[in-house]
Amino acid sequence: MNQAVPDVHTAEPIPAAARSEIERLLLTGDLFRYTADANAPVSLLETEFAALMGTRYALAVSSCSAALFLSLKALGLKDKARVLIPAFTFAAVPSAVVHADCAPILAECAENYRIDLEDFARKLPQADAVLISHMRGHTSDMDAILALCEAAGTPVIEDAAHSLGTLWSGRKIGTLGRAGCFSFQSYKLVNAGEGGILITDDADLVARAIIMSGAYEHMWKKHKQDDALTKALTRWQNQLPLYNLRLSNLSAAIIRPQLAEIPRRVRDGLRNHDHVAARLSAEPGFHVPPPLPQEERAPDSLQFNLVGLTALEQEGFAKTAAKNGVKVQIFGQSTDNARAFWNWQFLDGIPDLPKTRAMLRQACDVRLPSRLTLEDCDVISDILIDAMRTVTGRNQRNVA
Ligand SMILES: *Cc1c(COP(=O)(O)O)cnc(C)c1O
Repeated sequence: MNQAVPDVHTAEPIPAAARSEIERLLLTGDLFRYTADANAPVSLLETEFAALMGTRYALAVSSCSAALFLSLKALGLKDKARVLIPAFTFAAVPSAVVHADCAPILAECAENYRIDLEDFARKLPQADAVLISHMRGHTSDMDAILALCEAAGTPVIEDAAHSLGTLWSGRKIGTLGRAGCFSFQSYKLVNAGEGGILITDDADLVARAIIMSGAYEHMWKKHKQDDALTKALTRWQNQLPLYNLRLSNLSAAIIRPQLAEIPRRVRDGLRNHDHVAARLSAEPGFHVPPPLPQEERAPDSLQFNLVGLTALEQEGFAKTAAKNGVKVQIFGQSTDNARAFWNWQFLDGIPDLPKTRAMLRQACDVRLPSRLTLEDCDVISDILIDAMRTVTGRNQRNVA
């Protein structure tokens, strides 16, 4: 059985088109984004990404975490400002908040992985800003969230690290808030090892972020700009600290040819996800929360809940699947999991969040990259279903 199990960890090859550009960069040694007067790969990436997303500005940086940090800094919040984030996210998100000298407030998330709107609305009045993390590409109800935040006058930043290609009522995720941040880390849709990008229509916000990202002296003149941005950049000259979170030309050369691959990766990722989701949904013990009606997803992994299993059976399920070659992460069960809020002990006090805790205790995570075939997906589905039948005693041949 093990032989046929697909490898879900190795990445797709980087498109061949990247090679000649990397060779050129290596021969000239031109790796710093601000060395060339114009058309540096990082600048071209920013122009192309902004065009792809339909925003006025883009700023490429060293990671999505850096983009989140710069977005918060660029909002010009008061010291120790409070930032409302979902309690189901990756530790890098509360970390970016802390790094920006702010304090996170955690909103409960429901068993469908999305923000609990009642808890969100209750905590919003205490918040100076909102950072919506679309964890694992699951979109919370952005209509309700944007309406609440607009009424409260609270700015919204989107952590769209894992949401490239996701649509909300036909609008691109990452373009709904004041700024949207994406990741090019290897486990995301576009893989450069590391990297991130911030998009926005707000000239003042991006001007501040450009300078703080490390556009010292007059380096900012090498950014593509309109009059509004030039004015904002001139205004912020010498006013801001430099955090040096720039992206290298080598990374941009690896990212640019992958932009054309996004539609295929989104299409195949969704096909694979929906195929496995349908197979598991037909089986007792699994619950795959459906997308919200406004949402068109772009998943590269599958999340599902284990229903009615004891802690021992959950452990047995994960062990049996692993023995047969499929690694299942139960977010709230593994030691030191970076997506379990109770492990964020660097925070000043961790609140009790029973709803999110209950969800994390039964929520499973399986990688499902877009390059898998439907046959591969069936092998994974068979292993998961077999593990469920085994631990719940419904698999006669496996009950010794
Ligand atoms: C990966 C990820 C991040 C962090 O991205 P980096 O580029 O590694 O900093 C933040 N938020 C979410 C939801 C992620 O999936």
